[in-house]
Amino acid sequence: MKFYSTNSPNRLVSPQEALFHSLPADGGLYMPESIPALPASFLNSLSGRSLPEIASVLTSLWLGDELSSSEVDTLVSRAFPFDTPLVELEAGRLYALELFHGPSLAFKDVGARFMAGLMSHYADRFSREVHILVATSGDTGGAVAMGFHNVPGVRVSILYPKGRVSLLQEKQLTTLGGNVQAYEVDGSFDDCQAMVKRAFLDAELSQTFSLSSANSINIFRLIPQSFYYFRALAQLDKGHAPVAFSVPSGNFGNLSAGVLAWRMGMPVQAFVASTNLNKVVPDYLQSGSYAPITSLATLSNAMDVGNPSNFVRLKHLFHDDFKALSELVKGYYFTDDQTVSEMTSLHDHYNYIACPHTAVGLLGLQSYQQNYVDNCGIALVTAHPAKFNPAVDTIFGHAIDVPERLAVLSARQKHAVAIPASFEDFKEALLQVA
Ligand SMILES: *Cc1c(COP(=O)(O)O)cnc(C)c1O
Repeated sequence: MKFYSTNSPNRLVSPQEALFHSLPADGGLYMPESIPALPASFLNSLSGRSLPEIASVLTSLWLGDELSSSEVDTLVSRAFPFDTPLVELEAGRLYALELFHGPSLAFKDVGARFMAGLMSHYADRFSREVHILVATSGDTGGAVAMGFHNVPGVRVSILYPKGRVSLLQEKQLTTLGGNVQAYEVDGSFDDCQAMVKRAFLDAELSQTFSLSSANSINIFRLIPQSFYYFRALAQLDKGHAPVAFSVPSGNFGNLSAGVLAWRMGMPVQAFVASTNLNKVVPDYLQSGSYAPITSLATLSNAMDVGNPSNFVRLKHLFHDDFKALSELVKGYYFTDDQTVSEMTSLHDHYNYIACPHTAVGLLGLQSYQQNYVDNCGIALVTAHPAKFNPAVDTIFGHAIDVPERLAVLSARQKHAVAIPASFEDFKEALLQVA
């Protein structure tokens, strides 16, 4: 399996190159040169299969040239010690696919943990430690920190903007210790990202460390996200109606992963692109023209993206055919007021507590089902609601349950190196640990 850059389709690179250098130098994105087709036997025997079982088959299809089957099994059993359960809201018609049962309580665990496992597989062959730099505005940092914690041969430095991540998100970044170091930057997320970008261009740092990124754009975060779409189907009763998946979207990695599953042969009626007021993709699906915006702040802040980084991938997955794309992908967008009333209505009707992102996904699915009948709807649940406290408690007017693994964090001591939003200070701090 080789990968091409969307900007130079004829230049192919190895999986290892695409893994360690997330971004091709030409500014494109890596995409697989061919998409493996599922054997019919896989779909016929999907019912009841576990996430690691599904992940093993699919990982072997993608990486069978690189990993032996026992290496594949080790990778997936370490990466996915949790399930992605399907919760029934209305039998045969409305389901929630919970993707928050991993350590950081957001779906980003799936991609980050798979990528971490794959990096450690290759890192064994390197003489130098791999040093991963990542800037985060919240959920990505926690998934990456926990995914790489204690992974041999890998060190992680995380930059986050001071005072701009939730309390529990900050604890996820700053309480692990070991090979994970957090830098609390007196600046914005954009400052953090700019500092990381400069670090990759700095000759002295590149000589000292084997630098790599855990950017969400990495193709090896996207591929494993296709696994749980199959896990969803494995949990449905036989004879279900055609499936429509609704994906609460920001950078559109999650939705692209679903489309990738469809390209491999997964049967679906539609994908629903559900967004907040950052509605560039729903607008594109209506008009056919793509007009990025400066992002707007909303309640579902992990989806506040004005120029989704995976949009190019989505187009490539449809060979740039707008008609085909807009037939399979339907867009809907919602305001914060609609999101809040959906959260209360889901609680009242189904006794289900959803985070704001998930509420947007369920709103999209219900709107779709008003226009298209005879389908079985599955909305992706992207994070546990307690991650967004106190905002979520305020909406429900009482404290919601906090999972143990999140609750224990509040008592842990924060360890972060405070630095100004200056690349020179960051570089100096990095060199101190060399
Ligand atoms: C990252 C994130 C999203 C957006 O996912 P994309 O793949 O960027 O579209 C949605 N919800 C939550 C909770 C997230 O953390």
